[in-house]
Amino acid sequence: MDRVSLLTLSGRIIVPFIMGAYQSERFSAAKGQCDLVRRRDGKWFLLVTVDLPDGTKTPTTDFLGVDLGVVNLATDSDGGRHSGEGLEACRIRHHTHRCLLQKAAAGRKRRGYRPKAIRHKLRTLSGQEARFRKDINHQISKSLVAKAQDTGRGLALEDLKGIRDRTRFRKAQRARMGGWAFHQLRHYVAYKAQRAGVRLEIVDPRNTSRECAGCGHIDRANRPSQAEFRCVACGHTDHADVNAARNIRSRARAAVNRPKVSEPPRTLAA
Ligand SMILES: [Zn+2]
Repeated sequence: MDRVSLLTLSGRIIVPFIMGAYQSERFSAAKGQCDLVRRRDGKWFLLVTVDLPDGTKTPTTDFLGVDLGVVNLATDSDGGRHSGEGLEACRIRHHTHRCLLQKAAAGRKRRGYRPKAIRHKLRTLSGQEARFRKDINHQISKSLVAKAQDTGRGLALEDLKGIRDRTRFRKAQRARMGGWAFHQLRHYVAYKAQRAGVRLEIVDPRNTSRECAGCGHIDRANRPSQAEFRCVACGHTDHADVNAARNIRSRARAAVNRPKVSEPPRTLAA
């Protein structure tokens, strides 16, 4: 814990205080006097002016939370959604076409198809589908990184561990999302963020879809349907994926701005 030396009407007093990661990193650049203020809730804050050289990169303190899913491929904490609708239509179209081709193959030359031609057509179809999804993943990841960068924020994603057994990925959905495409989108977001110098924070995925972004109440009943979030405790309603993205954002902010209490002591005169 750090300490601050304050000049009061009855002399100097030493008061312990705590700082977040952002504050600790800039602390050495503190200059001049500090102001001690009391917030409405009774907590005391020390406002410190820092002098940073030009070109200093400001540390990230806020994030764009991103929820990756099936119905909506990506949803951000500002409410932006990238629907998987067009993609699903393409998948169904291709699936139907594939079934017809396979049936034709079973019936041999009856419909004028030769087995070799059918195999070739099937390969073409799966290649088209993969390219289509790849294009979409590039577009989505590009726009997410641009949004974060333009607003001076980092990006927050859920840790993949545990995502598999989340309620919203039921068996039918797992077949739909096709594991590789989901991982590809995540990978694109991560590498585009790194390339753009956008901080990426990975957060604990537990209950992000069941927790209320308004009051923090966690309940399975908060999620009456796939798309809907309605908190049984405070009545807060939102699109379920937006609510999850907001939780992801909060977790990233909490991780970065949480005061650290295990640092060596320092003393600041005020
Ligand atoms: Zn609530």
